[in-house]
Amino acid sequence: MEKMIYLDNAATTRVSEAVLDEMLPYFRQTYSNPSAIYGFAADSKKAVDKARQQAAELIGAKTEEIYFTGGGSESDNWAIKAAVEAYSSKGKHIITTKIEHHAILHTCEYIEKQGCEVTYLDVDKNGKISLDELKKAIRPDTILISIMFANNEIGTIEPVEEIGKIAHENGVLFHTDAVQAYGHVPIDVEKMNIDMLSASGHKFNGPKGIGILYIKKGVKIRSFIHGGAQERNRRAGTLNVPAIVGFGKAAQIAGETMTERIEYEKKLRDHIIERVLSEIPHTRLNGDPEDRLPNNVNFCFRFIEGESMLLLLDQAGICASSGSACTSGSLDPSHVLLAIGLPHEIAHGSLRITLSEETTLGEIDYVADELKKIIKRLRDMSPLYEDFIAKQKGE
Ligand SMILES: *Cc1c(COP(=O)(O)O)cnc(C)c1O
Repeated sequence: MEKMIYLDNAATTRVSEAVLDEMLPYFRQTYSNPSAIYGFAADSKKAVDKARQQAAELIGAKTEEIYFTGGGSESDNWAIKAAVEAYSSKGKHIITTKIEHHAILHTCEYIEKQGCEVTYLDVDKNGKISLDELKKAIRPDTILISIMFANNEIGTIEPVEEIGKIAHENGVLFHTDAVQAYGHVPIDVEKMNIDMLSASGHKFNGPKGIGILYIKKGVKIRSFIHGGAQERNRRAGTLNVPAIVGFGKAAQIAGETMTERIEYEKKLRDHIIERVLSEIPHTRLNGDPEDRLPNNVNFCFRFIEGESMLLLLDQAGICASSGSACTSGSLDPSHVLLAIGLPHEIAHGSLRITLSEETTLGEIDYVADELKKIIKRLRDMSPLYEDFIAKQKGE
């Protein structure tokens, strides 16, 4: 198999040519520390300012509300841990969901050990929270609601604007992990009442190891990394100028190409959904059919063991995933698929395909053809499937 088909863009994306070109001079030519005094430092400082503006513009934020971090996980950790610290006089209760990324869930487990209380909201069969349950979960001591913008496994987009409204009517801060949404779908932090937002460069054709935390002006939040005065005293450490420049450029391009890209990805997405559901029996689409990321497809195939399917896809030159990159390698089924109510044996047969603007219709058709063969082959070897067929024939 000479050609590789990369369909794991929710795990990470390729740095685009334009982004790399923008970054390269900041390694060897303009390598100055932006905090220094001399003129040579002003060039990298200017580049950082420009990137901050580009990062802000994409979500309707003010430039000074953007803080560069080491990635999505850091932004999520910072938002939760620092909010808990800064608002501890008001209370120690936070609300999140059962389908968050582990950067949120494991941080919540950590703060529970520190004496906080966390409510984990259920989701419905499509992966959406209930706004009524959210309202009921709010208490006088609730300080933070952290709900993801879009799920990284099943692609469901949460009702963010309504969540923000409820948070603000109740005087509670609203943080959203928008790592899968930033650069992929329109976000307006003002209109959506978002107080804090996490995003990550490598999920939208920027470099790895760089992210942002948007912190609305007026939100009290402690610094997370202590040291120098970088990022207005809130996140110490010499700025990663090339990566910051790359983040900004990727944000700019994402904004300029978003409308077209969404339309294109949706067309491919709906094509593969249509083909797989109609051509492969005992298959289920996971995630909301309407409110879902334009590049996300997630199926469960009954009587299939996910790992075997992924290995056979790999042999056919197709990179896909069973859920999130962080859970593959472990034998537990995805917490997201369990939260939408799938039984273990069905959750085990999951496949996530995440497209990019480089994906072609030809590739998608090839994947559907291969998948059909692979599923048939695996089912033909499965005793469970054999039993099922025998029962269907009725003996
Ligand atoms: C990838 C991802 C993260 C982690 O971002 P990193 O930059 O890889 O640390 C957090 N949340 C979601 C929803 C993600 O998809």
